[in-house]
Amino acid sequence: MKIHRFATCESLYDMPLKVQFVLTHMCNYNCSYCFGHKKMDKRDSDFPAIHRLKTAVDHLVELKRSHYELFISGGECTYHPNLFDFIQYACDAFQDKLKVINITSNGSSGVEIYSRLADLAKQYNVPLDIMISIHTEQVSLKHIVELTKALSRKLHFLHFALMFNPLKKDFVKEIYATMFSLRDVGGGVLSLHVDGEQTSCTAFVPGR
Ligand code: SF4
Repeated sequence: MKIHRFATCESLYDMPLKVQFVLTHMCNYNCSYCFGHKKMDKRDSDFPAIHRLKTAVDHLVELKRSHYELFISGGECTYHPNLFDFIQYACDAFQDKLKVINITSNGSSGVEIYSRLADLAKQYNVPLDIMISIHTEQVSLKHIVELTKALSRKLHFLHFALMFNPLKKDFVKEIYATMFSLRDVGGGVLSLHVDGEQTSCTAFVPGR
C-alpha cells in the first residue's frame, strides 16, 4: 500500500499556521476562578515590547506558509499599549496570507477600542472575530449590550462565552436571556449554544 496524501493538505507548508499571541498575563478583572492573571499595571514591563512582537511576526513570515491565522489573547489583551501598531504590522507583513484575526477579550474596554479594531481589520480586508468572555463576577451587562449593538454589523463574527458561575445563577440566566433577545441586532441570527449541563453557553452574532 502506498500513501500519497495524509489529511487534507498536500504538505506541511499548505497547512494554515495558527499563531497565538498572549499579549499580557495582566487583567483588569479579578475573577475568583482565574488561575493565572496578574493585577493590571499599565506601566508594567510585563507587556511584551512592540519590537519583540514585530520580530516574531518577521520570523513567522520567513516560514513562508500558505496562510496564517492570528489569535490574540491575554490576560486582557486590549490593554496592550501597542495593540493597534502590532495588528497593523502583522497585516502589512502577512498581506493576503492573513486569513483571520481572532481576539479574545473580557469586553470591558471602551466600545471605541473594539470599533477601531474592526475598522483596522476592514481596512486590510481581513475578517475579524472577537470572542467576548462574559465573567459574571465583574461584567457590566449594560456595557456588553452596548458593545453588541455597536459591533454586530462591523465584525465577521462576534462571539460570547458566558462563564457559568453557580453562585450567580440568576445573573447567568439574565445575561443569557438578554443576549438571546439581541439575536436580531446584527440583522442576522444569534444562536445560543449550551455546553454540557449548565456549564457554559456561547452566543454567536454573525456580523454583516
Ligand atoms: S477576565 Fe479572564 S484573565 Fe481576567 S481575571 Fe477573569 S478569567 Fe482571569
